[in-house]
Amino acid sequence: MRAAQLTAWRQPLTLATLPDPTPGPGEVVLRVLACGVCRSDWHAWTGADPDVVLPMVLGHEFCGEVVALGAGVSRWRPGDRVIAPFILACGLCGDCAAGHQTICANQQVPGFTRDGAFAELIAVPFADTNLTALPESLPSHVAAGLGCRVTTAWQALVGRAELRPGEWLAVFGGGGVGLSALLLGRALGARVVVVDVVGDKLAHAKSLGADAVVNAAETDAAEAVRELTGGGAHVAIEALGIAATMTGAMRALRKLGRLVMIGMPAGEHTAMTLPMDVLYSGQLTLQGTRGMPAWRYPSLLSLIDGGHVDLSPLVTRTITLSQASDELAAFDRPAPPGVAVITDFAS
Ligand SMILES: [Zn+2]
Ligand SMILES: [Zn+2]
Repeated sequence: MRAAQLTAWRQPLTLATLPDPTPGPGEVVLRVLACGVCRSDWHAWTGADPDVVLPMVLGHEFCGEVVALGAGVSRWRPGDRVIAPFILACGLCGDCAAGHQTICANQQVPGFTRDGAFAELIAVPFADTNLTALPESLPSHVAAGLGCRVTTAWQALVGRAELRPGEWLAVFGGGGVGLSALLLGRALGARVVVVDVVGDKLAHAKSLGADAVVNAAETDAAEAVRELTGGGAHVAIEALGIAATMTGAMRALRKLGRLVMIGMPAGEHTAMTLPMDVLYSGQLTLQGTRGMPAWRYPSLLSLIDGGHVDLSPLVTRTITLSQASDELAAFDRPAPPGVAVITDFAS
């Protein structure tokens, strides 16, 4: 099969011909139909992720068609069009049994702990646990964009914050995951204010239905959100993983507000100073989140299939496998708007 392999940090991916994967017990092999290029791939590409051992086929935001089944797989047949979350949970441990697949101690992550989907084929472990059938109405390139940003936002809003209709949601960070939170928050009946420092991103958020936008480069964002929302947001999503947005999000909440941190703090941001007096006096809830359990896919796909949310504006370009290297390098600069998805694996 044709695959794009990371063979040296920060270098263009090597386009290689690798042996076709054969499915082990519980695994299926998919013909990859589409795979998103994500900032997490860039983290791996730079060598910042300790899980990644070279050489590695990147790619964790994929959907595909089942082409081969390993022993013991019962739910899938060749020809099924399916999607998986990026956290591939074992389905057997106590945490999985309790529905908490994102903390499964046996989890595998394609593109990080095993070969991913920048390739014509991918072997998916624990297939009965992790795969979900895609509705026909959802194009593959849009589905692939769900793999990470949209599913993480869905889990944050529904599984963590338990966002309710009519509540105010403040989204700090207008990138891919922030825009996903905006679209899903609106679909859930919330009112949404998006905060960023880039005017273009705020204009894009407004065009996607944000009730209000706030430019944190021009004003005290927390104060502006408290004013817009009549006392503060009920829920805040932090999508960058840095102290400035965490602090802004905490201060933007009303009392008993809930803050979900989606942004991954890395490097100098792993430790940060936060206004804990605001947490105390506001009786706030602070939560972290990572990924989404596969069992939440049906509710998300149903919302999309029913036309209640259109995620296609998130995907701004479809590319070939050989163009993935340029997309990774582009994350060194402020990311271009929207998501790139590989749909052509032959060129
Ligand atoms: Zn497990
Ligand atoms: Zn991703």
